[in-house]
Amino acid sequence: MIMKENILAVHKKIEEACQRANRNREEITVVAVTKYVDELRAKAVVDLGIKHLGENRDNQFIQKYEAIGERATWHFVGTLQSRKVKNIIDKVDYIHSLDRQSLAKEINKRATKKVKCFVQVNVAKETSKHGLFVEEVIPFIENLQSYENIEVIGLMTMAPHTNDENLIRPVFKTLKSLQEKVKNMHLPHAPCEHLSMGMSNDYTIAIEEGATFIRLGSTIVGTNIE
Ligand SMILES: *Cc1c(COP(=O)(O)O)cnc(C)c1O
Repeated sequence: MIMKENILAVHKKIEEACQRANRNREEITVVAVTKYVDELRAKAVVDLGIKHLGENRDNQFIQKYEAIGERATWHFVGTLQSRKVKNIIDKVDYIHSLDRQSLAKEINKRATKKVKCFVQVNVAKETSKHGLFVEEVIPFIENLQSYENIEVIGLMTMAPHTNDENLIRPVFKTLKSLQEKVKNMHLPHAPCEHLSMGMSNDYTIAIEEGATFIRLGSTIVGTNIE
């Protein structure tokens, strides 16, 4: 079965990247992004041992959640419209795309318990991408402190879509140094200990630069649909 081989290959590359960077494998959580495939495939991923699943659309998120439920830990990784928050809030464990005050307000209002959030950062200032610019991140996080249902556990970014490592690596380095800065502020609502960075084409670089959550779609599940 292809997915099993994909997963073994991913584990091996993670190990190797950890060795190069002198990191502990346990620090890294693989989130399988299942947006390209149906719920049967998503379920198979969980059966193959990857318990964290990510989706980027509310309807797909709900469809998969209903098929798999609490056997998985649930991540929302895509742009989240405020009006969709109510559809996913009681099912989601991690939101990777907090990027504006109005979204924070809606999450805080709808949540019945603390939600683990990553603040999304558009490090390279790409017009095609969402996320705050680096210089906006600290004031944004400081302003979240009255939202009792939001816990900023880390920062998230997407590197430019390219094979040029020289364009990718500095983005991850910048996010890491910003994350440490926020962490060192010791804000009770923003422990900011995590880095969600690295996708199929760049996760080994992300691990070398400190990623603790990597979001892998095509390299694990293939690209069956879309
Ligand atoms: C689709 C997606 C991924 C996974 O992408 P791959 O390149 O297929 O690994 C990761 N993060 C986000 C935010 C995504 O939308």
